[in-house]
Amino acid sequence: MESRLDTDKQAVIDEVQRFVEREVIPVAHDLEHDDIYPVELIEKMKTLGIFSATIPEVYGGLGFDFYTYSQIIEQLSRGWMSLAGIVNTHVLVAYMIATYGTEEQRRAFLPVMAQGEKRGGICLSEANAGSDVQAITMTATRDGSDYLLNGSKLWVTNGQRGGIFAVLARTDTAARPPFRGMSIFLVEKGTPGLSSSRTFEKLGYKGVETAELVFDNVRVPAANLLGGVEGEGFKHAMSGLEVGRINVAARAVGVAQAAFNDAIRYARQRSTFGKPIAQHQAIQLKLAGMATKIEAARLLLHQAAQKKDRGERCDLEAGMAKLFATEMCQEVTLEAMRIFGGYGYTKEFNVERYYRDAPFMLVAEGTSEIQQLVIARQLLERYKI
Ligand SMILES: Cc1cc2nc3c(=O)[nH]c(=O)nc-3n(C[C@H](O)[C@H](O)[C@H](O)COP(=O)(O)OP(=O)(O)OC[C@H]3O[C@@H](n4cnc5c(N)ncnc54)[C@H](O)[C@@H]3O)c2cc1C
Repeated sequence: MESRLDTDKQAVIDEVQRFVEREVIPVAHDLEHDDIYPVELIEKMKTLGIFSATIPEVYGGLGFDFYTYSQIIEQLSRGWMSLAGIVNTHVLVAYMIATYGTEEQRRAFLPVMAQGEKRGGICLSEANAGSDVQAITMTATRDGSDYLLNGSKLWVTNGQRGGIFAVLARTDTAARPPFRGMSIFLVEKGTPGLSSSRTFEKLGYKGVETAELVFDNVRVPAANLLGGVEGEGFKHAMSGLEVGRINVAARAVGVAQAAFNDAIRYARQRSTFGKPIAQHQAIQLKLAGMATKIEAARLLLHQAAQKKDRGERCDLEAGMAKLFATEMCQEVTLEAMRIFGGYGYTKEFNVERYYRDAPFMLVAEGTSEIQQLVIARQLLERYKI
């Protein structure tokens, strides 16, 4: 597989791997437990070009494909999954602007996003609309050459430190089905009327804020309507979610790989009944199962990323990769914890962090149940006689 990558891409992946080993792994435990935003790591990630990885070169990015991106995300997540979360919505917003934005929007937003100075956030979910995106109530009402946005968005990753938000709103509340009346607006932090009312304390995925954003008559120029045409927002969001699902699948592979690496090292060191536990067949069965599932998830992930790179619709492949990789991650992190015995349940080791980070990925970018619905819908379409 690696022969596909040209040397520039491989060099960046290798550099990210070294960064994770030298600078992320030594500090992740403490930053995570203290729920501290990783300011210094973010600065280093900017210099590594991680925030610009998928942005086209013409707008100041590295112009990498999603196959390469998925490997960068896997590496980051091996160190600390939250770092890859900060990158995810940023890349997702940049993808939507690069793919669906007007030329004016690309020039206005992508260069500054490529530097990582203004990071992106995606505002789809609301208090009563998560899986059911069409149930959103946020409105965008035309007012001269502007739109006025009203409503609130929940669970916004990068909600406080992000600089550019892609906000899904209803421009036509009478449209049926509702998705036909939805549009995405690019809203900058600091726009009057936009505020963050709270952040959530979480089981895992710490160090990155998950915020509620309130939009109170937020005035946005019509030039910030993504693509310049009303009614396309739902389609843009669904296409963006394919990128998000590739990210989450890569995160799950990275976290599971970290759990496996720690578990196999521990299994060689820990002895019971006169020999290392790695010599007990019951532990070997676990290790074999874990490694096989991780590899299977990685292959599904690469398949989805390569399909996205070919510009093809990949909701089926991204859904399968996300579903399998995240469920696998949940299983593998628990198995790793079992291999550590009682120590696995303590904060002395990282396995408890991997175990706490895993469930978030079952929910993010669409729950496992929703992935299965997406997969089934596409299967029924493809197997139509
Ligand atoms: C830490 C965190 C960060 C997040 N970041 C963002 C972000 O940056 N931007 C953003 O827009 N959103 C974000 N989200 C929101 C996330 O996408 C939603 O939580 C997720 O889509 C699920 O929506 P919900 O929480 O409303 O659950 P619900 O939709 O209420 O679902 C509840 C349960 O019902 C199941 N269910 C729902 N509908 C069906 C169905 N038709 N068939 C079978 N089962 C069904 C679900 O699978 C789930 O098990 C984030 C969430 C978290 C926890």
